[in-house]
Amino acid sequence: MKYCVECGSEYQDSVKACADCPEGQLVDPETMRQRGLPMAHERDTRQFVRAGTAEDPLTAEDYVRLLEAERIPVIARPQGSGSVDALTTGNVLPWWEILVPAEHSVRAIDLLAREKDNLKATEAEAIRAAEDEERESEGFGAPPPA
Ligand SMILES: [Zn+2]
Repeated sequence: MKYCVECGSEYQDSVKACADCPEGQLVDPETMRQRGLPMAHERDTRQFVRAGTAEDPLTAEDYVRLLEAERIPVIARPQGSGSVDALTTGNVLPWWEILVPAEHSVRAIDLLAREKDNLKATEAEAIRAAEDEERESEGFGAPPPA
C-alpha cells in the first residue's frame, strides 16, 4: 500500500498519483510515519489532541508502544527540528508530540505521566548503580593503606 503525503489516502502500489491531489506524492507507510504524516485511517472523524511530549526518539517510541498496548490510537510527530531554527539558535533539539484521539486523552495523559515517572526512576537507579560501581572500582583500585 502507498499513501498520499497531502491527504493521506490509501492507494494500491500500482497507482502513480493521488486522484485528489495533483501534487500529492505517493509514499510507503514507513515514510508517512517518519514524516509524521497521518494516514487516512488515522485522520478520520476523530480529533487528535496532545497527550504528552517526548524529548528523544526512544522515549517517543516507548510512549507509542505503551499507548498501543492500551489500544489507544497514537501518532508521534517530530517537532521543532527545523534546520533554520537549528542554524539561528544553534541548539534546537527536536522533540516529539504524542497525539491521541480526544476521547482517549484523559487516560493517555495519565498513562504517560506514570510512564514518565517510571522512566525517571529507572534513570535515577541507573545513575545510582553507576555511582556504586564507580565507588567499588575505586575501592579496589585504591593503594593499600600505609
Ligand atoms: Zn491526496
